[in-house]
Amino acid sequence: MQSSAQKVEAIPEVETAASPSLDEYWLPFTPNRDLKAAPRLFARAEGVYYYDPTGRPILDGASGLFAVAAGHGRREIIDAVHRQLEELDYTPSFYRSHPLAFAAAASIAALTPKGLDRIFFVNSGSESVDTAMKIALAYHRARGEGQRTVFVSREYAYHGVNFGGVSLSGMANNRRRFSGVIAPAPLLRHTGKTTAPFHRGQPEEGAERADDLQRVIDAYGAENIAAVVVEPIAGSIGVLIPPVGYLDRLRAICDRHGILLVFDEVITGFGRTGQAFASQTFGVRPDIMTMAKAITNGVQPMGAVAVDRGIHDTIMDAAPEESIEFFHGYTWSAHPGACAACVAALDVYSREGLFERGAGLSGYFREKLYTLADLPVVSDIRQFGLLAGIDFVPESKPGQRGYRLQKQLFDAGLHLKTTGDTGIVAPAFVSTREHIDEMVDVLRRVLEKESL
Ligand code: PLP
Repeated sequence: MQSSAQKVEAIPEVETAASPSLDEYWLPFTPNRDLKAAPRLFARAEGVYYYDPTGRPILDGASGLFAVAAGHGRREIIDAVHRQLEELDYTPSFYRSHPLAFAAAASIAALTPKGLDRIFFVNSGSESVDTAMKIALAYHRARGEGQRTVFVSREYAYHGVNFGGVSLSGMANNRRRFSGVIAPAPLLRHTGKTTAPFHRGQPEEGAERADDLQRVIDAYGAENIAAVVVEPIAGSIGVLIPPVGYLDRLRAICDRHGILLVFDEVITGFGRTGQAFASQTFGVRPDIMTMAKAITNGVQPMGAVAVDRGIHDTIMDAAPEESIEFFHGYTWSAHPGACAACVAALDVYSREGLFERGAGLSGYFREKLYTLADLPVVSDIRQFGLLAGIDFVPESKPGQRGYRLQKQLFDAGLHLKTTGDTGIVAPAFVSTREHIDEMVDVLRRVLEKESL
């Protein structure tokens, strides 16, 4: 047991009556006891740097957690939230709303694929996934096919932590540790390892893995399947890039059988792949799309679901006048502060051409990252846009090296995310070539000390 004597090191220039105890806060997805034994905390952020409580800079190689696309401390977004909260701090989301909620929905709809322009607000990626699942069920029910209740997911998928998303999980721990509550979704084969390691960009082989959907259809019956849910790029598992033609093939099979296609764009949304959404980058239009990270540049919690207009209208039309059409929503849906942050963030992205800027940097990012391929501890690198996964050769216990490296990289001045033995990098779109150089330099310095 940790003692309650654990204290956070005092944060310079911040007045605190006393350093807070570390005992009460239970961190999500974190080895809490280890973190509390040696906390690695951020106290401040500006641009593409975090600063620890002693003022030491740490390059943010992951846009926080894929969210801070325009860099930290963006005045325009912070001021917009401030102004909004002074004007109107909260509105109930049921039966009432406020003008910025409509403005935020319109700003998002201007970026989504054509016709995918009915926007439901939530507060996180997990909520967006569960909401998308409910919309799919509501749609089939509205058109008299309420027996379509099976969702199809994919090996290695991550769709958040709410029970709908957990039922879709293809990451073993997230699913197995909470099994038995709701039926697990059948899983398609994953899209990893269809080419030799260190392949650049989309793999040319592997599109036929989409045909696995036919196996699931044969087992469950197309008439019982509500939707197929996939991340266009499987992000959290370590960046698995779809083979050329794979998503088109999924789309075609769904169309043949009246099955909805849901893209979970929580990570890929808002420019990560070079266009607003991966749907546009890969040229495949889903019926429903989830999004969350980068929707407010990380300034406020928010997520959203973009829904095909026809699906929306079917649900509306099936309900009697003056009745609630969709029995779902959250107290904080379209919170005024979040809507202000969303409108301001999307405005910054557009005014500064940040999606194009990210796309412009991605070639340099790729070439610099692939220089790490000579290191014995690096077993594969995959990259698309400003998103990449670097696989480390595992030690005897899987995940041990990745966990240790994540701490060592922080100590050496780089923040990135690790999943198991994969490091995931996702720089902000405002990063310069010098920032990419610095990231790769820190990686090399730390990784070359690793022994096999
Ligand atoms: N879906 C995908 C594809 C994600 O990558 C994530 C988070 O990483 C989620 C859903 C869950 O988002 P949140 O952590 O905001 O609930």
